[in-house]
Amino acid sequence: MTTPATRTVDVAIVGAGLSGLTAADQLARDGYEVVVLEGRDRVGGRIRTTEIAGVPVDAGATWAAPDHTAVRELAARLGIEFIPQFHTGKGVISLGGKRRVEGLTAPAPWVMADIARVMSALQKRADDLPLESPWTHPSATRFDAMSFGEWLRRKRALKATRSFMRMVCLVHWGAPPSDVSLFNVMRYIKTLGGLEHMLAVEGGDQQDRVLGTAHRLASALAVTLDSHVHADASVERIAADIDAPRVLLDSPVERITTSDERITVETSTRRIDARYVIVTASPMHRSTIDFTPALPDRHYGLSRSWRLGALSKAFVAYDRPFWRDHGLSGEGMSDDDTVFLTFDVSPDAAGPGILMVFCDARGFDAHTPFERRRRVIEHLAHLYGDQARDSIDYTDFSWGNDSFAPGGPNPAVGPKTWTSFGPYLREPAGRVHWAGSETADKFSGTMNGAILSGQRAATEVVTRLENEK
Ligand SMILES: Cc1cc2nc3c(=O)[nH]c(=O)nc-3n(C[C@H](O)[C@H](O)[C@H](O)COP(=O)(O)OP(=O)(O)OC[C@H]3O[C@@H](n4cnc5c(N)ncnc54)[C@H](O)[C@@H]3O)c2cc1C
Repeated sequence: MTTPATRTVDVAIVGAGLSGLTAADQLARDGYEVVVLEGRDRVGGRIRTTEIAGVPVDAGATWAAPDHTAVRELAARLGIEFIPQFHTGKGVISLGGKRRVEGLTAPAPWVMADIARVMSALQKRADDLPLESPWTHPSATRFDAMSFGEWLRRKRALKATRSFMRMVCLVHWGAPPSDVSLFNVMRYIKTLGGLEHMLAVEGGDQQDRVLGTAHRLASALAVTLDSHVHADASVERIAADIDAPRVLLDSPVERITTSDERITVETSTRRIDARYVIVTASPMHRSTIDFTPALPDRHYGLSRSWRLGALSKAFVAYDRPFWRDHGLSGEGMSDDDTVFLTFDVSPDAAGPGILMVFCDARGFDAHTPFERRRRVIEHLAHLYGDQARDSIDYTDFSWGNDSFAPGGPNPAVGPKTWTSFGPYLREPAGRVHWAGSETADKFSGTMNGAILSGQRAATEVVTRLENEK
C-alpha cells in the first residue's frame, strides 16, 4: 500500500455545497490557503441540475425569497440572474380524490378559517422563540416533547387542515407531521421569517428561480476558487488540469485526526495537513467520518438524531404549458400518496411546458422507474385533465436514494432532539468547526442559510488563525 502524498493548507473544508464553497471563497480572499474535499463527483450538494426536454431544471434547491440577500449578493457578483416563478392563474387542490379549482369551489370557508386558526396559533408560538438559542425558551421542553402531528390532533385541526400541514412538512422536512417535533416546526417558522412567508410565491420563499438553475451559483463559485490559475475553466477541467486545485471532487473524507497544533484530513487517496477544518456535511453525515480523538458524545448524539428527511422530485414536459390555456397556474396541492405539490417551471409560454412535481418519497422511491412515471402522470391527469397524458419527456430524482450523503431537503428533527442536542449544532470540537445550512440561525434550511453559515465558520476560523500569529 502506498502512503498518500500530504498537502499542507491553512484550512481544509469538507463538502463543496454552497456553505463549504462560501467558506473557502472567504478564506481564500483573506489570503489563506484552502482546499475543499467533496465526496461526490460534482459540487453543489443539495443543489443539482437535471435536464428535461433539453431544458436544465433544479432537482434540488430552486427558489430564493426577496430577503435572501446572501444568495442575491452572490448571484450579482457571479453575474447570475433570477426569473420570477410563474404564478398567474388559479391553483388546483385535490383532497380525498376530489379535485377543485382554487377560488371557485375550494377551499370551503370553514376550511380556510381552520387553516388560518392553526397557522395563527403556530405563528404566535414561533414568534416568541429567540432566534440564536431557541432551546432557552421557557416552554421549549414542552413544545419539543410532542410531534407536530400530535399537536394538530390536540388542536382538533380539520382533516383538510392536517392534509395542508402534511404538505408543508413533506416539502420542508421530507417527512410527515408525526415524524417532526412541534418545536422543530416552530423554530423553522421563526428562522424563515414566518409561515406565510414560507408558503408564498410573490414576496415569499417561492418568488424567484435562478435563471439556468441554482447549480450555476455553486459551479461558478467553485470555478472562481481556482480561476487564479485557470482562466478558462470548469470544475471538472480544473480538477483534471491543475496539480493542486482548491476543489477536489470524488474525495470522501474518511478520517480527521487532531494532533497538537495540526489536524489531518484523509481520504482513501489523499492526506491534507491543516491548521483547522470546517465540516459542512449535514449533521447526520458528520458521524460517517472517523474522528481521532473521538468527538464529545453529544456530537454523536446530535449526528444520530438529526436524521435527514427524504424528498423526491419529478419533472414532466409537454409541447406547451397547456394548463395556462385553462387559466391555471400549474400550482397544485394534493393529499395523494405520491404527488403532493406541482409548479410550472416552463422556460417560456411557447414551450416546452414543464411541471415540477414534488413527490412523497414514501409513496415513490421504492417503485420502478416505469411505475413512478405512471403514478405521476396519472395524478397530473387528475389535476390538469387528459392533456397531461401527452407528455414529451419525464425525469425524476430521489434525494433519499442518492448514493452519497443521501437525504434532503432538511433534517426531520423528531421530538426531544432540539432541546437535547440543538446547542451543539455548531459548537467547535477542538480544531473542527461546523458549517452547513442546518447551523445557520437565520434562513436555516435554505441556500441563503448555507451561505451565511459558511461566512460565519470562515470568520470563526480566521479569528483563531489571527490569534495564533
Ligand atoms: C429537493 C430539495 C429542494 C430544496 N429547495 C430549496 C429551495 O427552493 N430554496 C432554498 O433556498 N433551498 C432549498 N433546498 C435546501 C438547500 O438545497 C440546502 O439548504 C443547501 O443547498 C445546503 O447547502 P450546504 O452547503 O449546507 O449542504 P450540502 O449542499 O448538503 O453540502 C454538503 C456537502 O458535503 C458533502 N459531504 C458530506 N459528507 C462528506 C464527506 N465525508 N467527505 C466529503 N464530502 C462530504 C456532500 O456531498 C455535500 O456536497 C432544497 C433542498 C432539496 C434537497
